[in-house]
Amino acid sequence: MKFRLLLSLVFFLGLGLFASSVSAATFSDIGNTHRAKAEVYFLSTGNIVKGSNDGYFYPDNLVTRAEAAAMIGRSLQLDGTQIATKFKDVGISSFASGYIQRAVEKKIISGYSDGTFKPEAPVTRGEMALLISRAFEYNATTTSSASDELMQRGIAQGMANGSFGEGLSIKRADFSVFLARAINSGLRVEGQSLIFPEKKYVNTNILNFRSGPSTLYPIVAKLSYSTPVDIAYRIGDWVYARTASGQEGFLHMDFLSDDLSGPIVPEPEPVDPLTEEVIVIDPGHGYPDNGASAYGIHEKDVVLATGLKLQNYFKKTPFNVQMTRTSDRKIELPDRMTFAKRVEGDLFISIHANSFDGSAHGTETYYYGIARTNPYVNESKALATYVQKRLLSAWGLSNRGVKHGDLHVLRENSMPAVLAELGFIDSKPENDKLRSAYWQDLAAKAIFLGTLDYYYHYEKKDVLKLYDIAGGKPSAKLH
Ligand SMILES: [Zn+2]
Repeated sequence: MKFRLLLSLVFFLGLGLFASSVSAATFSDIGNTHRAKAEVYFLSTGNIVKGSNDGYFYPDNLVTRAEAAAMIGRSLQLDGTQIATKFKDVGISSFASGYIQRAVEKKIISGYSDGTFKPEAPVTRGEMALLISRAFEYNATTTSSASDELMQRGIAQGMANGSFGEGLSIKRADFSVFLARAINSGLRVEGQSLIFPEKKYVNTNILNFRSGPSTLYPIVAKLSYSTPVDIAYRIGDWVYARTASGQEGFLHMDFLSDDLSGPIVPEPEPVDPLTEEVIVIDPGHGYPDNGASAYGIHEKDVVLATGLKLQNYFKKTPFNVQMTRTSDRKIELPDRMTFAKRVEGDLFISIHANSFDGSAHGTETYYYGIARTNPYVNESKALATYVQKRLLSAWGLSNRGVKHGDLHVLRENSMPAVLAELGFIDSKPENDKLRSAYWQDLAAKAIFLGTLDYYYHYEKKDVLKLYDIAGGKPSAKLH
């Protein structure tokens, strides 16, 4: 028992270390002392649970049947593409329609005899136990036997009075705790011994051993061909395994076999290295900070609209795009930096609109030109140069230049960072462009193409095929 305790400690330390190096969200309402912290962040790393756009998890909200189907479906990596279902109350546009349909096909969850699914109905603790039992192939057939199974496995603890509370609705925090422990036995209540009844062998040249059951989880080790592993349980196409040296984690089943008499399974195609590149888009201001205002519009709104359009261009690429805000909410400047660092941003693009006294006009793009705080001066300047060039040709405004600016989000940053001032909100012709969805899209496209130019010319990355997304071609080399 002591040995296992030590092992799980090592496992936790490893997880903590690695978890900080991937871009999982942090939630404002799941702080360091929250009882469900480890489990929520474990699930969040694998995109199994998500928070709201404004960064909250809402741990005390009740879990609906639709949400439960989605979380279980993501755990098993079912195809969540939205589709028509047989239920009259689950339309194709329901966020969970794909997961509901797949989970029903797999007999994990079912609808009601009147042809409804009741997607908004809350899930009880007993129903949750049965869902987990079916999803992870335990044996329970009733909510009470499923509840017993979860307690026996160290996935759930009873209520203070010793009962499981089967009939009570379950909160998001508790659902996350149970789901995370079902997936990752390293999170279970101590004192339950896990058995590893099945032996298999690594049947590919190098197999990634991960801290969770999908490629979104960090690699904790690489196993070579013919390594024997003991298997405890399955999570969809993944298994929880242990090596001879006692390391535990997750392996994909496709690369394991019962013996080594068959052919070696080829490794999967390498993923596009651009998926490692994290682009942080930073629309300035946010309620109650309007930024500049003129002719009835606010800077906060036009830069958010433009930022969301820019995000959509990047979503069509392998790049990992992250937004400092997606709603009308002010983010403090240091929090924007904290966010960018936490998601391991590689590029930071802040979007603003200018104002003066009504007489000034034009487009300008800033970078921070002193290496003291942000060492990426050359990169920032190159990016600013490409973005500025594209913005000028998109909007046709006068060129105020590429400039050094002592601006917080540039100065206190630790990655190539630029701030584009699209135009002057208090200049009527420029205000007309800033307020227009058409011109916002052209600005977004321009920043997108300018960023591709930077990757193409400066970083020498293979982004040529991505120009088609915005109907553009690489610009001339400028830096
Ligand atoms: Zn501004």
